[in-house]
Amino acid sequence: MPIYGEWHNPGIRRCYGKVRFKRIETATDVAARMSLKTGEVLIAHQCPDCLRFHVGHADPTQLLIRDLPSICCFRCKGPITLAQKLKGMARDGIHAYCSEKCEQEDRVRIERRRRRKQAQKERKRRRKMERKPAEGSG
Ligand SMILES: [Zn+2]
Ligand SMILES: [Zn+2]
Repeated sequence: MPIYGEWHNPGIRRCYGKVRFKRIETATDVAARMSLKTGEVLIAHQCPDCLRFHVGHADPTQLLIRDLPSICCFRCKGPITLAQKLKGMARDGIHAYCSEKCEQEDRVRIERRRRRKQAQKERKRRRKMERKPAEGSG
């Protein structure tokens, strides 16, 4: 049976016709705005092919996971609007905030924690280096 029409290899042409964003923030913003406009849930995601960020439909499993935690503000547990929820979902699926203030404060907190963890790791690494046994043992 002959095959008519175009054949697309999804592995090669994953990002064909999609807009590429350099920054996740931009893609997230666009995804949230488009979600509001269309009523469909669009998310920002990094493309494994071009390593840029695309905006696309969330698949059902993603939706299931993403839908649960973002019912209230991640920081103050206050109510959030649909737009804010979508923005959170588009960003990482977990962190939705009721206001810029909450988002800013939480970002500072997360950043601080990240730095502390990094410093810890660095200390551990250094200790390991110092403890390195002399060559020729064994
Ligand atoms: Zn791509
Ligand atoms: Zn809040």
